[in-house]
Amino acid sequence: MATYTPMIQQYLKVKADYQDAFLFFRLGDFYEMFFQDAIKASQELEITLTSRDGGGEERIPMCGVPYHAAPSYIEQLILKGHKVAICEQTEDPKQAKGVVRREVVQLITPGTVMDGKGLHDKENNYIASITAFDTQIGLALSDLTTGENLVAICSNFDELLNEIYSVGAKEVVISRDFPDEWKKQLIDRCQATLSYEAETTISSDFEGILGELHDERLTCTFGRLLTYLQRTQKRSLDHLQKVKVYYLQDSMKIDLYSKRNLELTETIRSKGKKGSLLWLLDETKTAMGGRLLKQWVDKPLVDRTKIEARLTMVETFIANYFEREDLRTLLKEIYDLERLAGRVAFGNVNARDLVQLKKSLQQVPAIEELCRSLQNDVYLSERLDSCEDLSNLLEEAIVENPPLSIKEGNIMKDGFHTQLDQYRDASRNGKTWIAQLEQQERQKTGIKSLKIGYNRVFGYYIEVTRANLHLLQEGVYERKQTLTNAERFITPELKEKETLILEAEEKIVELEYQLFVDLREQVKQYIPRLQVLAKRLSELDVLQCFATVSENRHYCKPIFSKTTELFIKDGRHPVVEKVMDSQEYVPNDCYLNADRQMLLITGPNMSGKSTYMRQVALTAILAQIGCYVPASEAVLPIFDQIFTRIGAADDLISGQSTFMVEMLEAKNAIANATSQSLILFDEIGRGTSTYDGMALAQAIIEHIHEQIGAKTLFSTHYHELTILDGQLSSLNNIHVKAIEENGKVVFLHKIEEGPADKSYGIHVAELADLPKSLIKRAKEILSELEADKLLTETVEKKTVVKEDLLTDSQLSLFAEENPVPKKAPTLSKKEQAVIELLKSMNLLEMTPLDAMNELYQLQKKIK
Ligand code: ADP
Repeated sequence: MATYTPMIQQYLKVKADYQDAFLFFRLGDFYEMFFQDAIKASQELEITLTSRDGGGEERIPMCGVPYHAAPSYIEQLILKGHKVAICEQTEDPKQAKGVVRREVVQLITPGTVMDGKGLHDKENNYIASITAFDTQIGLALSDLTTGENLVAICSNFDELLNEIYSVGAKEVVISRDFPDEWKKQLIDRCQATLSYEAETTISSDFEGILGELHDERLTCTFGRLLTYLQRTQKRSLDHLQKVKVYYLQDSMKIDLYSKRNLELTETIRSKGKKGSLLWLLDETKTAMGGRLLKQWVDKPLVDRTKIEARLTMVETFIANYFEREDLRTLLKEIYDLERLAGRVAFGNVNARDLVQLKKSLQQVPAIEELCRSLQNDVYLSERLDSCEDLSNLLEEAIVENPPLSIKEGNIMKDGFHTQLDQYRDASRNGKTWIAQLEQQERQKTGIKSLKIGYNRVFGYYIEVTRANLHLLQEGVYERKQTLTNAERFITPELKEKETLILEAEEKIVELEYQLFVDLREQVKQYIPRLQVLAKRLSELDVLQCFATVSENRHYCKPIFSKTTELFIKDGRHPVVEKVMDSQEYVPNDCYLNADRQMLLITGPNMSGKSTYMRQVALTAILAQIGCYVPASEAVLPIFDQIFTRIGAADDLISGQSTFMVEMLEAKNAIANATSQSLILFDEIGRGTSTYDGMALAQAIIEHIHEQIGAKTLFSTHYHELTILDGQLSSLNNIHVKAIEENGKVVFLHKIEEGPADKSYGIHVAELADLPKSLIKRAKEILSELEADKLLTETVEKKTVVKEDLLTDSQLSLFAEENPVPKKAPTLSKKEQAVIELLKSMNLLEMTPLDAMNELYQLQKKIK
C-alpha cells in the first residue's frame, strides 16, 4: 500500500487531536481541509470540493479558503455550532528542512469566540462546564469576552438545565463519562455544543482568581472549564475575573418552559428579542448595561432589601429628570469596557479601541459629579474610578484618528517618544526637501508641468512630458521609466534623499508598532480597575433604564405586602400595551389573598384570559427585578417561583407532543411550587379528549388548592369547572366580559367576578372569517347537540329512578331466606353483538357527535 506524503502524514497527526473540529490547515495563502472535513465543509460553506494526490491509493478530497477571507468562513461554522482548529506554519518555510512545522494555535468554538456575528453586544457569550456529584451538580460559567466567571451548585439536573438555558450557554464542557441521557437533553433543550475535558486541577497561575472559592466541587468544576480554555485558546487569559459564587435560591426560580412562555428575553414565535419583556425594557445606553439588564431579567431577586435598594435608586432617577438625561448622554459615549479588557488580554485591540477607551474614561468624572448631586447610599456611595492615569497616558500617546491597522504607523502622537520624533523629522525634512526640489527643477528647466512623484516600484522620480524632454540638460537625469506621454527620471541627490526617507519611514513603522505593543501591555495592568468601573457603570445604566421606561410608560412603584396579599389596580400587560400603541389597552385589577388563592378564569377565546394571566406574572417579575410596574397601584408578595403553562406550542425540537409538554409543565409546577409561588395554567387539559382533559384539570386544581396553596390563575374553557367555586374555599370564579351585539361577539377585555355565562367559539370562528355556510352549519349542529344534551339529561334522570327501584327490589330479594335465582334474559344474537360493540367503544376518544352517530347506528341494528 502506498504511504501518504509527509505533508498529509503531518495533517493526519494533527487531526488526530482535533477529531471534533474542522482542521484549517495552513498551506501558503490558503487554509485547506482534507478527507471528511473537506466533504462536510464544502457542504456547510458551499465551496468547491476538489481532490489532490496525497500519496495514497485514492485521491484525497480537499477544499480550502483563502487566508484573508477565513474569518467569515470560520464564523459561519461557529454559528452552526461547529469548532474550528487553526493550524499555522510555525517556522519560516525558507528555513524549514523537509515539511514546514505546523501547530494548532487556537481552537475556536461557539463558547470561546471573541468576535463576529455570533456575539451580540448586549448578550453574554457563556461557556459552561458541569461536574456531577452524588446528588448535586456543579456548574461553572465563563464569558471569555468579558472575563466574567460564575459558579453554582444545582440540586438536580432540571435545575441545571434551566440555568444553562437561561444564561444561553452555547457550549458545555463535560467529562467523557457524563450520562448519555443528560448529553441528549443539553443538545436538544439548550442547543449546546458539547466538549470534553478530563483535567480538573487548577494551575497555580490562576490561584489569584479563585477568591472565596472553598467548595471542592466548585473548584473542580471551574478547574475543568479553565483547563479547557487554556488548552484551546493557548494565549493570555489575564482578563479572567475573580470567580463569583452564586446561589440559585437568591433569585426567583422560573423554569425553562415558563421563561419561554412568558417571553422574558425572546418571543416564542420568532425567538428574537423584539416583542419580549427585555425588548420593552431595553433603554440602556451601553452594551455592558444591556448585558446586565438581561441578567437581571433572567434572575429576579427574592431579597426584599436588595429589591428595595434598586427601586429607591429608580425613584431617585425618576425624581431627577435632567440629571438622568445628562447621564444617558454621557453613557452613550461609553465603550464596551468589559469586552475591551478581554481583547487587551488576548492581544487583539487596535489603536482605535484605545482611543475609544480614552474617550469613555473621559466621561467618568462628569458621571461621578452627577452621582454626587443625587445622593444614594447603596449605588452612589463609593466614588467611580475614572482611571485618570490611564486616560492621560492614552491622551499623550495616541492620535485622535488612528488607522485600523497597527502595523502601518500613524498611531503615536508627536512628542510621545523622542526617537520616534527624530525619525519623523528625518522623514518630514526629506519630504520638504523634495517639495523644494520640484520648485527648483521647474525654475531650472522652465518646465511648468514637471513634477516629482513616488511609487512603490521605482521610488521617487522626476516626471517630464514628452513634449518638454528637449528642455532637460543632457547627462544630469537618469531615465527610469517610460510612459506613453512622459518619461520618468532620477538624479543622484534624489536617490540619496529617497534612501533617507524610506529608511526613516521603515523605522517609524517598526518603532510605532513596538510602542503600541508596550502601550497595550501597560493597559493590561488596568484590566481589574476597568472591570470594576464597567460593573458600576452598567448598574447605573440599568437603573436609569428602569426609570426611563417607568416614567415613559406611566408605571407605579410596587409595595411589598407584609402578608401574602396581592393587589394590582389597573394592571396592564407591558408588552401588549406597548405594541397596541394608539389602541386602548383595557386595564384590569387583580386581587388575591389568603382566602382567595385561586382564580378560575372563564370567557370566550380571544377575550384576553391569557393576556391577563401573563400581565400578573410580568408585574411580579418587573417588581422583583427592581423596576416599577404597569399599574396605578400594586401591592405584591415576594414570589419564590413562577410556573406557567400557557399556549400550545409543540416542542418540535425534542419531538414531544403538545399534550406531553403540557403535562410536563404541569408536573414541574406541582412538584416544585410552594405557598409562596405563582402558578399560571392556561387551558390545561385541552390537548386531550374532553372528559380526560376536564378530569385532569379538576384534579390539578384540587391538588394545588389542597396540597400547595400557591397563588394560582387558571383559565379554562370547561364551563363545567366553574361549579368548583362552591366546593373549594379559596377558589373564586372570574371571567372576561364579552357581549353580543347584532349577533356578533364583542370583547370588552374587562375582568369581572363570577363565571362567564356562555361559550362563544362559533362567534370567534365567524370573526376569523370562516365560510358563512360552515358557520351556519356549526350553529345548526350546536343547537342539535344542545337539544340532545337536554334529552340525555332527562333520560339520565329517568334511569336513576329506575336504578333506584332496582336497588330496592334487589334489597328485598336479599332479604328473602330462599331467594329464587333471577333468570337471565335471553338475548338475540344481534342484541349480543350490539352489546359487544357497545363495550368496545372508546367514549373518551369520541366527540359527542360521533357518539350520537354510533348510538344511532347501534339502535338501528336492533330495532
Ligand atoms: P384568550 O387567552 O382569552 O384566548 P388572549 O389573552 O390571547 O385571549 O387575547 C387575545 C387578544 O386580545 C390579544 O392578543 C390582545 O390583542 C387582545 N387583548 C387581550 N387583553 C386585552 C386588554 N386588556 N385590552 C385590550 N386588548 C386586549
